[in-house]
Amino acid sequence: MSSPDYLIVGAGYAGSVCARELAEAGKTVMLIDRRDHIGGNAYDKVDEHGILIHPYGPHIFHTNSKRVFEYLSRFTNWRFYEHRVLAQVGAQLLPIPINRTTINKLYGLSLSGAEVQAYLDQVRQPRDPIKTSEDVVLNSVGPDLCDKFFRGYTKKQWGLDLSELSAGVAARIPTRDNDDDRYFGDSFQFMPDQGYTRMFERMLNHPNITVRVSCDYKQVREQFAGAQLVYTGPIDAYFDHCYGPLPYRSLRFDHEHLPTQAQFQPVGTVNYPNDHDYTRITEFKHLTGEQHAGTSIVREYPQAEGDPYYPIPRPENEALFKRYEALAEQQSGVTFVGRLAQYRYYNMDQIVATALAAAEKLIANRPAGDAA
Ligand code: FAD
Ligand code: UDP
Repeated sequence: MSSPDYLIVGAGYAGSVCARELAEAGKTVMLIDRRDHIGGNAYDKVDEHGILIHPYGPHIFHTNSKRVFEYLSRFTNWRFYEHRVLAQVGAQLLPIPINRTTINKLYGLSLSGAEVQAYLDQVRQPRDPIKTSEDVVLNSVGPDLCDKFFRGYTKKQWGLDLSELSAGVAARIPTRDNDDDRYFGDSFQFMPDQGYTRMFERMLNHPNITVRVSCDYKQVREQFAGAQLVYTGPIDAYFDHCYGPLPYRSLRFDHEHLPTQAQFQPVGTVNYPNDHDYTRITEFKHLTGEQHAGTSIVREYPQAEGDPYYPIPRPENEALFKRYEALAEQQSGVTFVGRLAQYRYYNMDQIVATALAAAEKLIANRPAGDAA
């Protein structure tokens, strides 16, 4: 493709959804990714032992948006799956989010739902306003549960104390007075039945889309200078870090295959808030429902250096992002969309929704002279 209408940088959800929408609107699209595969961080593949794994950590699809669910359903069938997580606290494995079972098992009690609520009312430390993640946790469960389940995990995951992170981080985890032990409460919770990569392949299978992997934006910037740009990589890198680097948190993934063990742990993920250098271990067979004599697991070790995986939500980072965003707004013919480009701690479904909105806008604001 010599001169596509659009050059899209990044073949994750943001770039791929935009590519599909623009292609269906009659535009030609060159979609590139510097990695050697599509799917972004949601990429999955069969490991050398025949088990479908997520190289960039566990991805579980969940949403309350019927629109997003129906959109992705065009490219995949689904396997019903509700994720469950246990946290290792002392010698016990306890449900997280904290629920009635967690409190009863931890403290050797047998409280009813109403009694759990009364207990939490007694131990919580009301905070107003709620600004930080520490405020969120202390306000809902008080200091003991905070120290046992949140403070250590957060320090490991972010390299920061709960009090240094915006409220939205810990607010992702609810507190329950019932026995609901699902990690997510959303109305749609599924896994793509043939995996994420297969879903992306179908999404990108369109005559107007050309995909080029192992290709960095810098390599083709000049070649496609005439195309409109959709950029889904880190926004600070686009502007050559002119205001300094935006902090992103990275991870090292330590994958392991256990050939003679059919099951490693009782649920998809076990969190380690207080022990070890890793935050959690995920066993993929729980997520995919695969049958296999062995099993494959991944440990996540948070680190500062490496591929950017998480924007770090705190006021000073938000302020720096705003400076880059102001630069972005001055660019013509460039759209910034996605978790790295918008510096937002977005889940997959939120990225799909954001990308659909961005593509809609691009399609509606046809450049002058476009007769289509
Ligand atoms: P990405 O998937 O990061 O895609 C951006 C792409 O741009 C990358 O492939 C990158 O290689 C490419 N790129 C960047 N710069 C360049 C360049 N200069 N040239 C060429 N290509 C470039 N969400 C959920 O809903 N459920 C989960 O269970 C879940 N678990 C997660 C677990 C982990 C460990 C992580 C890190 C994230 C998780 N997420 C989960 C979030 C999910 O991964 C993101 O919401 C989603 O993948 C973001 O899509 P994106 O397209 O914005 O970014
Ligand atoms: N968290 C925690 N203990 C847990 C689980 C989560 O302290 O057992 C906090 C921690 O700060 C974490 C945040 O809640 O980064 C969000 O957790 P989530 O599981 O949503 O993180 P992700 O899957 O995005 O890494």
